[in-house]
Amino acid sequence: MTPYNTILLAVDFSADASLIAARARALAHASEATLHLVHVVETVPIDVAGEFLGSPQSDLHEEMMATARERLRTYTHSEQLGHAQQHVAAGYTKQAILEHAEAIGADLIVVGSHGRHGLALLLGSTANAVLHGAPCDVLAVRLNNP
Ligand code: AMP
Repeated sequence: MTPYNTILLAVDFSADASLIAARARALAHASEATLHLVHVVETVPIDVAGEFLGSPQSDLHEEMMATARERLRTYTHSEQLGHAQQHVAAGYTKQAILEHAEAIGADLIVVGSHGRHGLALLLGSTANAVLHGAPCDVLAVRLNNP
């Protein structure tokens, strides 16, 4: 198998995030690949009337981003992901994961797959969306929690 060079792990801090981290860690180790982590702070900038507000600029948003960066630092440390590059993005999860994968030239994206919603029964919603838009290989790690 051709080794991967740049692996992107999408982290949502769920109970299963350790299992996904273990897979990504093992693959990065086996391929001697650079490991990148991305967490997306899902933002839907609309007001109470449902009007689009443009880029989220509020203090609350900044606070959420700072909290997410801190959680990602802690996760990287506790999951022994070594020198993985950490990135916190804001926006729609699927789109932000794909944009970051493209930005870093990822050749593998690792996501968890819960397989819980409708059409996405086999893959889970984010895994399904990422798989369909990805410019590279995608590993959907099967998770136990429904
Ligand atoms: P879900 O579609 O919510 O079942 O999530 C499946 C997988 O998508 C998770 O195990 C993560 O790998 C990834 N994912 C979900 N939400 C996020 C997020 N906010 N940031 C980064 N990755 C995410």
